Amino acid sequence: MKLVGESATQALGVKIANLCAPPLVIHLIGDLGSGKTTFARGFIQSFGHTGIVKSPTFSLLETYNFVGVNLYHYDLYRMKDPHELEYLGIRDLSAEVDAISLIEWPQRGGEGVPHADLVIGLEYQGDYREVGCHAKSMQGQAIIDQL
Ligand code: ADP
Ligand code: MG
Repeated sequence: MKLVGESATQALGVKIANLCAPPLVIHLIGDLGSGKTTFARGFIQSFGHTGIVKSPTFSLLETYNFVGVNLYHYDLYRMKDPHELEYLGIRDLSAEVDAISLIEWPQRGGEGVPHADLVIGLEYQGDYREVGCHAKSMQGQAIIDQL
């Protein structure tokens, strides 16, 4: 699917967020500048967050707490040591009944990264982005079926 303009990437984030029930893990795959954080921005704001959505580039994790949903937004691009994941507590956090985890650069996290229910692949195409959604669990498939 073709996403033309930043607002289209955000809108997909909103749309998918509206279909998500915790616990859920989403992997966001794509090069730098492909729109992963833009997607996360729409996703997070759709829960009612009105402040800025900071890229977790340096912090690795930004947390947003809502009634019934704890949203964990990771960017593992700068991760150097697998122990950093343990320190973040990514396994325990993603296992919470209220958890929805959005993980940018999951491939940098290695073995310790929780398995995805849904994988969103974004590809840079100059002035637009190409997106593909892939289910990795029944929960993920249920979301794709409703898209
Ligand atoms: P990433 O987190 O993958 O590195 P970002 O979400 O920070 O990427 O996006 C990088 C740039 O791409 C931003 O300037 C954003 O506005 C732009 N962008 C996002 N989606 C689209 C789109 N569908 N079409 C054009 N530009 C987009
Ligand atoms: Mg990003």
